[in-house]
Amino acid sequence: MTVLVVGSVALDTVTTPFGARERALGGSATYFSMASRLLTDVRLVAVVGGDFPDESTKLLEASGVDTQGLQVVKSGRTFHWKGEYGANLNEAITLDTQLNVFAEFDPVLPENYRKSETVFLANIHPEIQAKVLNQVKDPGLVALDTMNFWIKSERNSLLKVLERIHVLTVNEGEARLLSGEHNIVKAARAIRRMGPRTIVIKRGEYGALYFGEDEIFHVPGYPLEEVFDPTGAGDTFAGGMIGYLDRVGGASSRHVRQAMVVGCVLASFTVEAFSVDRLKGVSIAEMHERFQRFQNLTVFDDLDIG
Ligand code: AMP
Repeated sequence: MTVLVVGSVALDTVTTPFGARERALGGSATYFSMASRLLTDVRLVAVVGGDFPDESTKLLEASGVDTQGLQVVKSGRTFHWKGEYGANLNEAITLDTQLNVFAEFDPVLPENYRKSETVFLANIHPEIQAKVLNQVKDPGLVALDTMNFWIKSERNSLLKVLERIHVLTVNEGEARLLSGEHNIVKAARAIRRMGPRTIVIKRGEYGALYFGEDEIFHVPGYPLEEVFDPTGAGDTFAGGMIGYLDRVGGASSRHVRQAMVVGCVLASFTVEAFSVDRLKGVSIAEMHERFQRFQNLTVFDDLDIG
């Protein structure tokens, strides 16, 4: 099975209460790929500039990510995001977004990418998401992530691509902005009417909520003693979740529930360090170990009174 992902590959400048990092490897498709490659084959579609470090491309390749679809525009600059976190680590404050080479990106998929079972349209311009989706032949599962930046500035093209997807992953603020509903249950219901039948609301350190046909499911966040940098947690979550769904070949309720836990497990590694510094070294054994701890965290018996 294979997941094709399109989204940002970025250089991020991030400040958290615990430190700062300039022009570190980031981007929605980067975090997604580095998580999902632990579960399945990953094909990356994105563009970077001449300033993108060779060692970052090498890291993706050494991690098993197929970078044939990573275009390099030597004369251009890589997407740059600058953000900071205050005491509330659940909320990133965007200070600057420079699309750079993404402003002109017109993706053409390598021939062998066109047959991919699963497609993840990671956070990027909705027209780029649509152009990629147009080139894939009958994908079994299509999921999408977006953010306030695109919901506000490209609403119409976003609504068009939403009609064509199965699973949407957004955070609470984005769900409210997209739906116009403050209550999150109402927001999920309103978004389901826009197209995607499965809505996953990411809740930062509080985990994630799943809204299906007649079903709501909640996974808590993994209780960590130290959170260093939350950047990429949402994309890592999606990488774990969608990677698992691709691996098991379905999106039944059982699989979605397991997949959400896998997503939370992998996101818990990402936030322990800047960039992909922790995620890149995660082993399958470590993933299983945290999954097990997660199970113990949430399991409880029936009442012992009548
Ligand atoms: P998250 O998983 O939500 O923390 O996403 C963090 C990543 O999103 C960062 O590495 C940024 O490079 C990337 N990002 C920020 N703004 C945008 C945007 N407007 N479009 C695409 N990617 C973005």
